[in-house]
Formats: sequence, C-alpha cells, structure tokens
Amino acid sequence: MGRRSVHAQGDGGGVSGEGGRDDKPATRLASAGRRPEWTQGIVNPPVWRASTILYDDVAALRANAGRDTHHRLYYGRRGTPTQWSLADALTEMEPGAQATFLYPSGVAAVMGALLAVLGPGDELLMVDSAYDPTRALCSGLLRRFGVTTRYYDPLAGAGIADLIGEETRAIFMESPGSLTFEVQDVPAICAAARARGVATLLDNTWATPLLFPAIERGVDLSILACTKYIVGHSDAMLGSVTATPELWPRLRDTAHQLGQCVSPDDAYLGSRGLRTLDVRLARHGESALKIARWLEEQPGVARVLHPALPSCPGHETFVRDFTGASGLFAFVLDGGGEAARAALIDALALFGIGYSWGGFESLVVPADPRRTAAPWRAEGPLVRLQIGLEDADDLIADLARGLAAFRAAE
Ligand SMILES: *Cc1c(COP(=O)(O)O)cnc(C)c1O
Repeated sequence: MGRRSVHAQGDGGGVSGEGGRDDKPATRLASAGRRPEWTQGIVNPPVWRASTILYDDVAALRANAGRDTHHRLYYGRRGTPTQWSLADALTEMEPGAQATFLYPSGVAAVMGALLAVLGPGDELLMVDSAYDPTRALCSGLLRRFGVTTRYYDPLAGAGIADLIGEETRAIFMESPGSLTFEVQDVPAICAAARARGVATLLDNTWATPLLFPAIERGVDLSILACTKYIVGHSDAMLGSVTATPELWPRLRDTAHQLGQCVSPDDAYLGSRGLRTLDVRLARHGESALKIARWLEEQPGVARVLHPALPSCPGHETFVRDFTGASGLFAFVLDGGGEAARAALIDALALFGIGYSWGGFESLVVPADPRRTAAPWRAEGPLVRLQIGLEDADDLIADLARGLAAFRAAE
C-alpha cells in the first residue's frame, strides 16, 4: 500500500497515525482520512451504502453491541468508511481535536453542538453577529427546552468574563460574523470561558480549519457548514462538529440519540471537495481582497466589511490569528434604499442571486443584519458578495455596471 499506509495505524478516535501531524495543512489535505483497509488502494474512499450490516452468528452480533461504533461497522446510521473518512480528514485538519461528527447540514451541526452542552435552566451567551438561522434556534427550539439566550457584542473579547453568570454553560462564537464580518478575539473568550468551566463553540465556516485551526486556538467544539467551502461546488448539504477529547463523548452520544447521519454520496462529495480546499481558498481570498479594495474607492460605497481591511472591526485580531481570508464579504451603500440596492444587484450579470456561498461561482444577496445587544447602524443598505473562481477583473467590471445602476436609481 506504500508510503501512506502509516495512516492505517490511526486509533479509533479519528486521530491520524504518526507522521501526518508535522506536515503543513496543504500536505495533510492530500491524504487526510485515507486508510488502506477502507480504500484498497483507490485514491478516494469508495461510496459504501448500507443500512443493515450482516453478522456471521449471534455471538458476533452480541460482541459488537454496546461497543464504540466509531470506525466499526454496526448499522448504517453509524456510518461506513465513506463517512468515517471525511470525519477523520476534518479531525486531522484540527490539531488537538479528538474526532468529528457529520450532520446533514450546517444548521444541524450548530444544533448538534448546542444540544451537546446545554440543558434546561442553562444560559447560552450568543454572539450578536451570528448567522440568522442560529439565532432562530435560540428563540425557537432552545427556548422551548428551557435554555435562555443572552446576546453579546462580537468585540467583547476578554470582557466576556463579566457576562458569564451562574447559569452560563456555553459561549457561542462566529468569527468573522455573518453579514457584518466583525472578527472576535476567540483565544481571549476561550480562556475566560475555560477559567469558569464554560464550553466554547465556534462557527468556523468562513475560515475553515485551514485559515483558523479553532481547537488549537482554544475552542471546544468547532462547527462547519461543509455545504460551503468543504463541498465547494454548490451541490450538497453537509455539516460537521469537531470536538476536543473532553467533549467528544457528549457530542457523539447526543448526535446518536438525535439519529443524525449523512448519506455516503454527500460525504463523498465532501471528501472530494476537501482535497482542493487550499488552492480554492487561496483564489477566493486573493480575488475577494482585490475586489474589496477596489470597492473601497468607488462612489456610492460607504464602507467595505472585509476582515483583511483595516477599517473592519476586529482587523488587528484577524491579522494576529488568521493565516488568510476567504472569499465572502459585504459592503455598505452610501445612502439609497431597497429599490436602489435591487437595481445594483439586478444589473449584475456574473453574480448569481442566491443563498449559500463557498462554491466556485460568484453570488450576491441583499443582507439586513438583525441585532439584539446593540442596534446595527449603517449609512445605507448592505450587499453581501461571495467571490467565486472567475477572473477578478471581470467581476470588477460587472460590479462597476451594478454601481452605475445604483447611482442612477438613487
Ligand atoms: C450557511 C451557514 C450555516 C448553515 O449551513 P447549511 O448547510 O446551509 O445548513 C451555518 N453557519 C454559517 C456561518 C453559514 O453561512
């Protein structure tokens, strides 16, 4: 099986075998999650479909019952090598992590992580710039099951210590924030939480572990909407939570009881996307920054919200903690209302109008931030861009047409 067979010795916790950990992330991506006993030498893990697993006799069936089913064929809901391979690959991208559980969407992953650490009577500290469906979980299902949510300023940093109360069990972060891109001081928040025995959760979808290895930075549960950059081609829904050794058993047991599982086809697409993550993110990031800098100079644009620009709240933290930027950012229009914003968006030919992001093509949406801790104030409406893999100069020419339409409509 050659040089990579070292990965066959990885233990049941999903940690790669000796050798893999010293390689740089781009190198690890090439073979992460691959085991010869699963692939038989095939480069990508085959799609293993299963519900029933047949046992030789009653003794074999009994012997498997009640054992840790991680990496052990037991029943289809517990996965097959196709899902295990992606989960292990994501774990290998997070130094310090124990293992990863896969979910059928990013929202399911967010909820799986929250339910693993919260119970009735507990309080959750939720960042005010969180993804809107995450906020909906707090005011919906979590409230129904007796969990209280308190929203905090994304720039709270070490000051979060003052907000931790007797009932606080978890702090949820998303950095940079959805729509408005404030960068949080994740290490400071995690240190304050750890001192009080509070669990920390990070929605790391924007950066992925490549640009921000969350567990290494102190996070307990690192959440990805794999639908975005991991799948990378806008053709599958998938989520993941990667856990520290301390929280892995609770995360796994909660997910098992919720009946969470993903199709092997979607897991395969996740593994396939993961192999090119480094080169795609580099292109997304380079083009997005070029376009963001161009937008800053344009009449009609009041502000560009991009973590790599000094004007972005939390920019210094971004420079300290991240190894790069991905391709999603927003800009605030200088005045104008709903109609003028729609005129801009409708005039774009290369940007698709649609939700989600992280795929190869550019997308645009009108965005309206929702806030609880402090009101969102801006000079005009917000436009969010996902910069795809097209030529950046073509995208700039398209945006110039859009801004001309905006100024004409204003
Ligand atoms: C899209 C998204 C999610 C949810 O992912 P789905 O796979 O669409 O459910 C969660 N967090 C962030 C930051 C997202 O952008």
